[in-house]
Amino acid sequence: MSFEAFNFHPSIMAGVRALGYITPTPIQAKSIPPIMQGRDLIGLAQTGTGKTAAFVLPILQCLLPGPRGRVRTLIISPTRELAEQTCEAINDLGTQTGLRSTAIYGGVNMDQQNRRLRKGVEIVVACPGRLLDHLGRGTIHLSHLEVLVIDEADRLFDMGFLPSIRSILKYIPQRRQTLLFSATMPGDIRRLVQEVLHEPVTVQIGRSAPATTVSHALYPVKQHLKTSLLKKLLRETETESVLVFTRTKRRAKRVAEQLITAGYRAASLQGDMPQNRRQAALDGFRDGSFKILVATDIAARGIDVLEISHVVNYDMPDSTDTYTHRIGRTGRVGKAGEAVTLVTSDDTAMVRLIERLLNTPLEHRTLQGFDYTLSPPSNKYIRPPRQLGRCAA
Ligand code: AMP
Repeated sequence: MSFEAFNFHPSIMAGVRALGYITPTPIQAKSIPPIMQGRDLIGLAQTGTGKTAAFVLPILQCLLPGPRGRVRTLIISPTRELAEQTCEAINDLGTQTGLRSTAIYGGVNMDQQNRRLRKGVEIVVACPGRLLDHLGRGTIHLSHLEVLVIDEADRLFDMGFLPSIRSILKYIPQRRQTLLFSATMPGDIRRLVQEVLHEPVTVQIGRSAPATTVSHALYPVKQHLKTSLLKKLLRETETESVLVFTRTKRRAKRVAEQLITAGYRAASLQGDMPQNRRQAALDGFRDGSFKILVATDIAARGIDVLEISHVVNYDMPDSTDTYTHRIGRTGRVGKAGEAVTLVTSDDTAMVRLIERLLNTPLEHRTLQGFDYTLSPPSNKYIRPPRQLGRCAA
């Protein structure tokens, strides 16, 4: 199948060609026709499957002939990174269509967003909290909305955004097309689907498991040796870009600092960083100035870098869904990728769950030449004896 089969307007095909897409991915092949027919749709697909273009392309086609300068499509995103990323895909694919889009999220000044909205846009990609602020202040109007997309619904739910979505729905016309994308379908999302979608078509791509192009390995190690092992692994493995996941923001920052000290071009990405630094880390990772990005799960949402050869779980994820999401960052659209997980004795139960998800035992690896017997550094800070009779300078 080729993109010609969809009969997209030439201005949209120009975007498809500019991005070098030749063949539609399975989610695109299955979703684009019903979306173009105006049907509601549930897309069960993980990131890395091409799901963004699966909804962006038919939406561009549907918006092309209508009025300009009013918000006609709203895409709700769980994180600012994903919102930015989706906006970028819209700009890239729609560059010749004259349709305008903007991203709306918190943590940045509202004035710039207000100016952009006043100038007129047809597509808004928004995180729920800041969108509700704008709706409350009357700086955005959704009364002309034609298409609503709820993207990564399971993650929106995990982050506690379901009540906000219900509030947003009150500002949106009942008569509209609604598309919902999610990697998994927990009960609460199912209920939301019943409430807000009308006779939806369901499109499912594979089961909710990591891409088959990814190989998985476990490196058992004691907690205090993880950073040394990671450094040795990085030294001895041929990698392109590497994404390292930690459980906490502090650990993401610390591990990145340790890698920088060891001479790696690394950066961290975590929720405590101001937006401009997050963006700089993401841009640097995307353009290759940073080869290693150490991130927490929420911050890493929406990272779209095709050259990620390795995902390293410095800390075990807290669920198999999170494992799937993390691993979805590598092995994208048919590329090979490797998932490496550093495991301690506390992680046995989660290893079993992941093995069940993958339906295969995970390979346990030992790194030759690594001293697994080193004892933890004595981290008790011993206060030096106070020097009597001297004042601090
Ligand atoms: P997504 O799942 O939307 O995050 O997309 C993952 C990556 O696949 C992005 O880098 C897209 O630009 C890329 N992509 C999407 N559709 C295609 C396609 N038909 N052919 C090649 N790459 C694609």
